[in-house]
Amino acid sequence: MKRCSRFKISLIGFLFFISANGFAQDLSTVWKQYDKYRELSLRDRFFKHADVVRLLKQHAVFFKAETLGKSVQGREIYHLSAGNGKIKVLLWSQMHGDETTATRALFDLFNFLRADDEYNVLRKYLLDKLELHFVPMLNPDGAEMFKRRNAMDIDINRDARILATPEARILMDIAKKVKPDFGFNLHDQNVLYSAGISKNTATISFLDPAYNYAKERNEVRKRATQLIVKMNSVLQEYIPDRVARYNDDYDPRCFGDTFQGMDISTILIESGGYPEDPEKEYIRKLNFYALLNALNAIANQSYLQEDAALYEKIPENNRSLYHLLIRNVKIKKEGRLFITNLGINHLQIKDQDYKGVSYQGLIDELGDVERVYGYDEVNAKDLDYVAGKVKVLTKKEWTALTQDAELKLIREGYLFIKWSDGKSPLGPVKKRLLNLNNKSKTDGQTGLNQAANFLLTNQGKPVYAVVNGFLLALDRPVKVLHNTFGY
Ligand SMILES: [Zn+2]
Repeated sequence: MKRCSRFKISLIGFLFFISANGFAQDLSTVWKQYDKYRELSLRDRFFKHADVVRLLKQHAVFFKAETLGKSVQGREIYHLSAGNGKIKVLLWSQMHGDETTATRALFDLFNFLRADDEYNVLRKYLLDKLELHFVPMLNPDGAEMFKRRNAMDIDINRDARILATPEARILMDIAKKVKPDFGFNLHDQNVLYSAGISKNTATISFLDPAYNYAKERNEVRKRATQLIVKMNSVLQEYIPDRVARYNDDYDPRCFGDTFQGMDISTILIESGGYPEDPEKEYIRKLNFYALLNALNAIANQSYLQEDAALYEKIPENNRSLYHLLIRNVKIKKEGRLFITNLGINHLQIKDQDYKGVSYQGLIDELGDVERVYGYDEVNAKDLDYVAGKVKVLTKKEWTALTQDAELKLIREGYLFIKWSDGKSPLGPVKKRLLNLNNKSKTDGQTGLNQAANFLLTNQGKPVYAVVNGFLLALDRPVKVLHNTFGY
């Protein structure tokens, strides 16, 4: 009998441990199994409202689903909810139409919440403790044209005060109706932000928005701060030194600031850049994992143990990156030979159907630089700057060029092809290593906002090629470039 009751007590203790802590302390096995939950039909930044609607209809069998209203152009905006817990959490994504990373992560989260596997105890725990509310893709009109603002050309995240847009009204209405304890405001930021003044991308940036100009801190804001500290510690394991914090200047036009003032502990998450991840698929996984950890920490209240002061230790979001930085390059210009640095960035050009982008590589800075870095960097100290030559071929010969043949031409100093029998197209050229050019000679200019095309040679031998702002290291296997350019 005694034994039995001791067993009972320890079992109760064990169950209490589970319910008090969930399985929150270590969700790293979920990270390892993430691919089970990844929504495979969303693979890049360019999915549209129709893709989201198709998926939401599938999820409506599990979640409570309703439409909240329509965008300016009449696209429906949806609200999904699940769970019967006391703590209410509202998550919304893509109020900026071209910021799609977190929407993908929310669909991964939906798949996780609906799955039937070894995490059933965890998901039941989350749904018992929390009432979850999701508004994915708040700005479907912007998504359609892959642009930030809505169809009225208003920035929805500067419309929290006057609510001129239907999308902002929808968000405000659902927040007032649900009265969430926590809000997650999910965005993307420029990939050229760094974590502090460093070469590390700000892959994830957080903000606990201020609720007044004095940037005071109350218990509501402190809970947001503590959750960020929690998420930061989780993410450091996967992206060490690539988490930053956003400027907390108060702006009453922004939803995060306004909601914080409405007693909703609000957290801004910004997905930035990560090397070799142009579609932000790795960052999407980080989003999923950070959100899952945050929900678990809210459910088991473990975030309350976090030291809010550690928030200040997270480096600030800083603009100190270029896509490509060439250091100490010798250039001849206006008859003068001088040593300088070239900061080169890739300007996005949207495809006509808004389902993709190309890039134009331009020189964004020329001169002395200090405390700036590049996704790619070359120290050209012992190399010579050489303008690329133009190779004349027929259109047919150009069409038949293999990648190896293109690479051979680059090693011979060519960066451009001119068609001898017609005018070649202007703008982005896909699946190529060489640019097109309608002139027999390039001007070889290297100036601000000019196209970045040149070779870096060692004793006359090309070591690097910069083609449309992309770096090719010629001593290594060469990948096809995202796109070259026709001039
Ligand atoms: Zn945004």
